[in-house]
Formats: sequence, structure tokens, C-alpha cells
Amino acid sequence: MSTQPLDAIVIGGGIVGASAALWLARAGKQVALLERDFCGSRSSGVNYGGVRRQGRSLVQLPLSCRAHQIWGQLPELLGIDGEYVRSGHLKLARSESDFAALQRWATLSEPFDLGLQLLDRQQLRARFPWVGDIAVGASYCPEDGHANPRLMSPAFAQAARRHGAHVHEQCTVTAVEPSGAGFTVHTAQGQRFSAPWLLNCAGAWAAALASQVGEPVPLVAGHPAMLVTEPLPMFMTASTGVEGGGIYARQVARGNCVMGGGQGFALGESTARAGQLAVLDILRNACELYPALAGAQAIRTWSGTEGYLPDREPVLGPSSTTPGLLHGFGFAGAGFQIGPAAGEALAECILLGEPRHSLQAFSIERFQHSTRSNAPCA
Ligand SMILES: Cc1cc2nc3c(=O)[nH]c(=O)nc-3n(C[C@H](O)[C@H](O)[C@H](O)COP(=O)(O)OP(=O)(O)OC[C@H]3O[C@@H](n4cnc5c(N)ncnc54)[C@H](O)[C@@H]3O)c2cc1C
Repeated sequence: MSTQPLDAIVIGGGIVGASAALWLARAGKQVALLERDFCGSRSSGVNYGGVRRQGRSLVQLPLSCRAHQIWGQLPELLGIDGEYVRSGHLKLARSESDFAALQRWATLSEPFDLGLQLLDRQQLRARFPWVGDIAVGASYCPEDGHANPRLMSPAFAQAARRHGAHVHEQCTVTAVEPSGAGFTVHTAQGQRFSAPWLLNCAGAWAAALASQVGEPVPLVAGHPAMLVTEPLPMFMTASTGVEGGGIYARQVARGNCVMGGGQGFALGESTARAGQLAVLDILRNACELYPALAGAQAIRTWSGTEGYLPDREPVLGPSSTTPGLLHGFGFAGAGFQIGPAAGEALAECILLGEPRHSLQAFSIERFQHSTRSNAPCA
């Protein structure tokens, strides 16, 4: 058993926790990053890889725009580009009312200067001839894009380690107790860590600690369904989504099309499968929206385990009951893009006293009087 003098302990080596550890280590803090499996092996490493600001709730846009800046600096920050490309994000409308919804969001998001381009049917056909006739229009965000989550998320932890963070993988936190002016954390492997700051970045598994400190949250697990096709001739020039949900798709440089939509199912507490119904739905939608995919072979399907809160906003920021505890979880299927900035915001709570972007909208206090649970959707 060992006790290490630390400034901060981070529970969870997903993109949020690893990013927080990286920003803290870069600022010279002694930080331990504790991950039950391998860093980036859960949601952060198995997601679709969409890196988009378009379509987010407006309260997320300040942080999402900060994340956009960080994504632009990956080689300097992490030493790799993570196959990140600013391909543009094309959000398609399948009805006039869906197109009106895209127009409304474009107006509301104007202060954030996303450079959105609204395309009617004719403009869409001319710019993106590979989109099926079912689309009546689209909103195009030229600087959104996609990346390879398998590369990106572990890279944050590796960069944190290079900056001096103590990264412990296969290290399961089993108990947290108050100690002195901070916390002592025990692991299943018999280690003990103590620090004045504790970051709860345990993804879909974060509610237990919140509950322990008197902050129960209605966090539920969801399992977005994913598949990838065989390599195909390049045709998809942007990452795509659809107003109202149902399917999202991108094509990687090797030619494979990665697609997601709907929900799979849990096999256990941390394993999940895409499920036949969700896969068939993705394929049906894909053939309507991207006719070039007709006859393509899907070579792999998968899912992951992600935390959802009823309002689909994360909990991000200080505990309301326990000084020194910070929460960062519940990203509702959209935390890959915003994760690097979410981690930075948590680090800023320690380094600056408060983050540069207000986290008020993500306060855990919003659940103090309501613990209703809603089923997640795509
Ligand atoms: C299939 C799928 C597709 C998605 N697509 C997109 C997308 O295209 N774009 C996008 O922006 N977002 C997407 N998301 C969401 C995104 O992946 C998540 O919001 C984000 O990765 C959450 O990061 P995290 O660090 O909070 O959680 P996680 O990556 O889940 O990390 C939490 C970590 O905590 C660890 N942990 C839990 N309990 C303990 C413990 N007791 N001790 C030690 N460690 C513990 C877990 O092992 C895990 O590694 C998708 C998610 C899924 C599942």
C-alpha cells in the first residue's frame, strides 16, 4: 500500500478525465489518473468520431467552440493528429419542417460565428451530389469534422503521462473517503491515493460517487449503435447527420464508411452490442440518404456505454456538497468533441479558481429537487 503526495486525483481515463489530467500536469500539478480498464477504452475510444459543434444545445457552444480551438492544436498538444480532419459537417433535412428547424438553429447560433451555410434542395444537389433525393435541404458547417477515437482518446492520457501525470491503468477505484483537507481513494489493486482535489470523470459509472456525497443524479446508460463498411471508393466529402436523428455517417481516408444511429443494448455493466434492429435501421436509412452505399458490406458492428441525464446536458463543475470534488460526466452521446474543453474547464476550477467559461448550466444542483429518469435516445 502506498500513499503518494498529490494535488489531484482523477477517476476515469476517458477523454474528459485524461484531458483534465493533461491540463493539470502541464501546469505543474501532481496528478494521478486512475482508470479501471485502459485509458480511452470505453465511450471515448469506441465512439463514432464526430467532431461537431453544429446541432448542439446553445449552452454548450462556448465550451464547444473552445474545444474546436483545442482540436486545431492536436499535434502540438498530443504529438499526433488523431486522423482529425475538418471535413465539414452536413446536417440533412428530410422534410420542409426539418429544414425550418435547421434554419432556426442557424439563426440562434449566429453569435458563435460557426460559418453555417444553409443549402436548399438545388444547392445541396450541386454541392453534394452523393446525397440521396430524400434530402430536401441541409445546413453545412465547414469547419466541423471527424477524427479517430481509438487514437485520440488514449493520446490524451499518454500526453498527460509525458507531462508528469501518474497514469494508473487497470486500477479500479473502490472507495473514496474524506481525509484531512481532501480525499483518500482506495483501489481494488490495494493502492491508496490522497489529494485535496478529486475529479469524478467516471463516465456512465459516475453516479455512485455523486450519490455517496449526497448528490444523487438520474444518470442512465445508453448504447449508440455503430457499424463500419468495407473500404469503398471515396465519395462522402463531409461528415453527415440528419435533423431529428436516426443516422450519422462519415468516410475515412481508407474508404470505410463509419455509421451510427439508434440504440443497441447492454451485455453487462460496461459492455454493449449494436443489436440487429438498430443495425438494420442504420442500413435502411443509409441507402436512402447515400445511394452509393447500396450493396456495401458492413464488416463490423459495435456499441459502447455512455451516460445520459434527462436534459441531455452534462454535469460539469464543482460538487454542491463537498469542497474539492469536481464532477465531469453525462455527455449524452456528444462528449468526444467537447471533452478536451470539458477537461480543461475542470482543470481551470483548480488552477484559476473558476473556469473561463461559465459552467452554471451544467451544475449538479439542477438535480437537487428532481431525480426523474428518462430513457436515452439517439
Ligand atoms: C457508440 C458511441 C458513439 C458516440 N459518438 C460520438 C460522436 O460522434 N461525437 C461525440 O462528440 N461524442 C460521441 N459519443 C459520446 C462520447 O464518446 C462520450 O460522451 C465521451 O467519450 C465521454 O467521455 P468520458 O471521459 O466522460 O467517459 P468514458 O470514455 O466512458 O470514460 C470514463 C472512464 O471511467 C472509467 N471508470 C469508471 N469507473 C471507474 C472506477 N471505479 N475506477 C476507475 N475508473 C473508472 C471507465 O473505465 C472509463 O474509461 C459517442 C458515444 C458512444 C458510446
